[in-house]
Amino acid sequence: MDDKSTIAPSSVPTEAQVRDDVLAWFNEAWDPDLSLLEWREILIDSGWAVPSWSRQWFGRDLPAWADLVAQQAIRHAGGVATPVGVSMFLAAPTLYDHASNELKDRLLRRTLTGELVWCQLFSEPGAGSDLAGLTTTAVRDGDDWVVNGQKVWNTSADHADAGLLVARTDWGATKHAGLTYFVLDMDQPGVEVRPIRQMNDHCSFNEVFLTDARIPHDQVVGEVGGGWTAARGTLAHERTFSVLRRAHVEPDASGRVVDEARVEAADYLKTYEWYPQRAGRVDLVIERARAFGVADDPVVRQEIMKLLAFNRAAELTAERAKAARALGRPPGPEGSIGKLALSEVARRCNRVHSLIAGARAMLREGPDPLDAVAAEVLVSTPAQSIAGGTDEIQRNIVGENILGLPREPAVDRNKPFREVGAP
Ligand SMILES: Cc1cc2nc3c(=O)[nH]c(=O)nc-3n(C[C@H](O)[C@H](O)[C@H](O)COP(=O)(O)OP(=O)(O)OC[C@H]3O[C@@H](n4cnc5c(N)ncnc54)[C@H](O)[C@@H]3O)c2cc1C
Repeated sequence: MDDKSTIAPSSVPTEAQVRDDVLAWFNEAWDPDLSLLEWREILIDSGWAVPSWSRQWFGRDLPAWADLVAQQAIRHAGGVATPVGVSMFLAAPTLYDHASNELKDRLLRRTLTGELVWCQLFSEPGAGSDLAGLTTTAVRDGDDWVVNGQKVWNTSADHADAGLLVARTDWGATKHAGLTYFVLDMDQPGVEVRPIRQMNDHCSFNEVFLTDARIPHDQVVGEVGGGWTAARGTLAHERTFSVLRRAHVEPDASGRVVDEARVEAADYLKTYEWYPQRAGRVDLVIERARAFGVADDPVVRQEIMKLLAFNRAAELTAERAKAARALGRPPGPEGSIGKLALSEVARRCNRVHSLIAGARAMLREGPDPLDAVAAEVLVSTPAQSIAGGTDEIQRNIVGENILGLPREPAVDRNKPFREVGAP
């Protein structure tokens, strides 16, 4: 790590100070002819890959907002920061917060370099919203755990090296207390990944069947029986993570590092190519209304304006949530309603695209290439209100945690899970 920082060790720096420090380091260290891996090793050693982490673990003990400031400064200067996606935004922070030092030592660096690709193995056929009701079971066998069960809706599991797995390890404990969080090696005989074809014809999810899959005991994340705490950590990161909001390299950047980063990002983002359509493509409605000659139809205009006004309000709410996070404030109402607002934008887009295009909104191949995009919106937006927690669950959170309403009745919370869960 360089020691030319202008930031005094015990002071809280300003954004401008952090940006200046990153750039001073970057301008000396950047070598576009390195391989992506070689560059990321240098980045990690500098402490600027994840400056909010501790110095012991590749960081600089800076506030949480410094991560984004550093990434943007490096990118705007024509460089490359850490990889995009689940590995960096779900796996890395969960391991950092909950894994043993030994496990961090084995996994964190290779996650930051992009060598390890991760997937999230949480949902099951009988446990999605009610995640703590999962029944995939891990039983201790000497130095290993043996896992049996089924996971589902697991994005990218077909090309992941490792999975963030939550499994039941104690059926005699209460629902939440009987869970343990593991790192599962995906490349082993007991792990069978079957892709699922979606109604929008993409194939980003998988079912994962676990039959006597083995996990070394030292791949438990946190405590045995403490899986719910670590899982909630992952879910909290998931609510603030958007694969689409993260740019990777500047369009005019060049060099070997950049070229390899572009290939890495393009490869990763293949899985997510329908996500803009999932969000509703609000950006297309005016263009489509003009193309269909209905831009001066009073009903269409009215609906478009309602959509655009709602979308703008949602964007401003998201900005408020971002500003509150940057100031280190705990998640507030603006964060919780933000996800609901995104679902509503997607639903309204769906309606407006149909209103504009009529039956042509259903054509996968129409006279205009955008027909296919609009058609994909119709069959992709339902996912917006399910992924990362459904709208109904989000409303429960708002009701209970923000409005202070009574908790949802739950008869299964305080009994041994074997008495209330499916066998
Ligand atoms: C795009 C996308 C990506 C995903 N990626 C992953 C991934 O990588 N890994 C992973 O593990 N999972 C993933 N999931 C799964 C996702 O987490 C679950 O789909 C989600 O938690 C909902 O669970 P479920 O599908 O089992 O629905 P259910 O929980 O069965 O819900 C069915 C319906 O009942 C309602 N409902 C349920 N409980 C309540 C309640 N208490 N009060 C009111 N209404 C209720 C729900 O709102 C919903 O409308 C992904 C899903 C999507 C759409």
